[in-house]
Amino acid sequence: GTIVVAVDGTSGSGKSSTCRGVAARLGIRYLDTGAMYRAVTWWLLEHGVDVHDPAAVASYAAAPRLRSATDPLAPTICVDDRDVSVEIRSEAVNAAVSPVSAVPAVRERLVALQREIIGDGGIVVEGRDIASVVWPDAEVKVYLTADPSARAARRAAENGAADLSATEASLLSRDRIDSGRAVAPLTMVEGAVQVDSTDLTLDEVIDLVAGLVTE
Ligand code: C5P
Repeated sequence: GTIVVAVDGTSGSGKSSTCRGVAARLGIRYLDTGAMYRAVTWWLLEHGVDVHDPAAVASYAAAPRLRSATDPLAPTICVDDRDVSVEIRSEAVNAAVSPVSAVPAVRERLVALQREIIGDGGIVVEGRDIASVVWPDAEVKVYLTADPSARAARRAAENGAADLSATEASLLSRDRIDSGRAVAPLTMVEGAVQVDSTDLTLDEVIDLVAGLVTE
């Protein structure tokens, strides 16, 4: 299939589980663009780059070699041939990824890589700017949201984090930066279908999004 399904939304709205489920069901690929921003952030921290210095971040934007696997059942990411799929979910990366993602040189490089991977389509792509910037011609555009408390509970369950209010504060802080930044802020584009997953099970959200594709 040549279809591109763009799924944008806030942190912890259930994007990853939803997108993987939809891609697996449709037998197409899956790309987690957030993992790419996290992988660059992980590399910068690993190399002692000050993530709050945009000029320093920009100067290293092209340095890490990235490889994203697009199998929805095994969506790993490698940086310089090291699999960092687990490391990119750390609290240190959570805290640094939004400022890194606000640096235009980082976005330019990652958007170009994402467009290469999307290629001829047959893919579900999740992020913040997929429908607005990366692939405005996506056949299906979904804007996924959920109440902050539901998102924090899910993220804490995923990560085994005990402190719900700290998890919620971390999510809301990233949302604030992601929505307020000058470059590619999180926005719902015209033509997108808004899905609020607060009161839906994962299967229900997958059904709903997959249904938009086969309509
Ligand atoms: O989706 P996830 O929460 O893993 O994304 C981590 C961070 O990466 C977001 O908070 C955002 O700052 C950044 N991001 C982005 N553009 C995307 C995907 C993620 O700026 N397309």
